[in-house]
Amino acid sequence: LGKWAKVMAILKEFEEQCGTPTAKLRQVADAMTVEMHAGLASEGGSKLKMLISYVDNLPTGDEKGLFYALDLGGTNFRVLRVQLGGHEKHVVKREFQEVSIPPHLMAGSTEALFDYIAGALARFVATEGEDLCLPPGRQRELGFTFSFPVQQLSVASGTLIKWTKGFSIEDTVGQDVVGELSKAMERIGLDMRVAALVNDAVGTLAGGRYNHPDVMAAVILGTGTNAAYVERAHAIPKWHGLLPKSGEMVINMEWGNFRSSHLPLTEYDQGLDAESLNPGEQIFEKIISGMYLGEIVRRVLCRMAEEAAFFGDGVPPKLNIPFILRTPEMSAIHHDTSCDLKVVGAKLKDILEIPNSSLKVRKVIVEICDIVVSRGARLSAAAILGILKKLGRDTITDGEKQKSVVALDGGLFEHYTKFRNCMDSTLQELLGDAYENVSIIHSNDGSGIGAALLAASHSQYL
Ligand code: ADP
Ligand code: MG
Repeated sequence: LGKWAKVMAILKEFEEQCGTPTAKLRQVADAMTVEMHAGLASEGGSKLKMLISYVDNLPTGDEKGLFYALDLGGTNFRVLRVQLGGHEKHVVKREFQEVSIPPHLMAGSTEALFDYIAGALARFVATEGEDLCLPPGRQRELGFTFSFPVQQLSVASGTLIKWTKGFSIEDTVGQDVVGELSKAMERIGLDMRVAALVNDAVGTLAGGRYNHPDVMAAVILGTGTNAAYVERAHAIPKWHGLLPKSGEMVINMEWGNFRSSHLPLTEYDQGLDAESLNPGEQIFEKIISGMYLGEIVRRVLCRMAEEAAFFGDGVPPKLNIPFILRTPEMSAIHHDTSCDLKVVGAKLKDILEIPNSSLKVRKVIVEICDIVVSRGARLSAAAILGILKKLGRDTITDGEKQKSVVALDGGLFEHYTKFRNCMDSTLQELLGDAYENVSIIHSNDGSGIGAALLAASHSQYL
């Protein structure tokens, strides 16, 4: 076999293994629905944890006052301050600040991480303007968005089940993360109460509902991926508490850990998983989300370089570095519309130190990006269909016009246009006529606002 024929063979094989024909997507959606039932039936009944959030009321629009939120979920965290004006006025003022997390803190100690976060929060509180006055004698209240799997003990406490997305701090597992944050705030003399602990998907659901009354589910496509939705409380067999007055309970699916024999997995995915910080876990997340997409592309390029001299003799040294090709760069490559693919050429030179790439090499790279993104976006659409099916909202019965709105957030959804468009057209392909009653909205920073709203509705002063 000639070298180029070998390149084409690797590409073709990869494309076939990543294939997501409609019939396969329906199997994935059905498997998602089945696992949702299993996860709701009993603790540990499924790979899908289907965690009870203790959020049984979503925002109404009447929430009032000054509240803070803290969003910890990936490489950055955000602190947020909102002044809620109540009915009709809604968000009167909102300010935020983004702070990056030094990598050593992602694998250090619980105390060091939470001290760092509390410190940044305290500095942000210190910038509170005179116009935002807290009634005298009142403690500031915070909604804590913590986007890792947590076993909630109440709406404002919960223990970490495991880290994901590159975090690995052993001693936090099993600890109450609200307790850890509160201790860190105390250590630096910041007087603030955590009124709600929420996952980012739950926060996005709350933020989405605040703006659109028909929002019933939220999906995060960022560094990782997850979803939350509103379930009927009586459809949660593992819930032994009192039935909430609303009759509803928000479920944090933790769908990043979904896995099914119907998922199209390749040798590259297996390699990525085996060398990850959490082998065998978060398999769905590892083929869908922003942390991993660029890395899958890098692995395919490595094989082409090794076996088919794709970049000339030998493997370019930079190409051997795990995670060197990040998803935003991959997105720039994928969206290059110039006829000689100059953005692809420039990225190859800047990131991988590969100068003078030929047009046909560049085209293959764009093709690999397309295969990886189509698979991720189409599977995301199938997973959303799984939720709609669970709620019986995937078909139109007797011309019924019940709207189902899904609030989406996360950097991947927000910035990767081809991912977003592919997901949307796949949803249309899967839903047919029922697509009319389903809409996807971008809930910009829904998780931060959502956490502040949930802090307001769980305030100690109500
Ligand atoms: P998190 O998920 O950590 O809370 P975000 O929702 O902001 O944070 O998502 C960040 C992720 O979004 C990044 O890890 C990256 O994978 C993806 N992302 C950010 N910018 C872009 C971009 N321009 N194109 C594609 N993906 C992007
Ligand atoms: Mg986030």
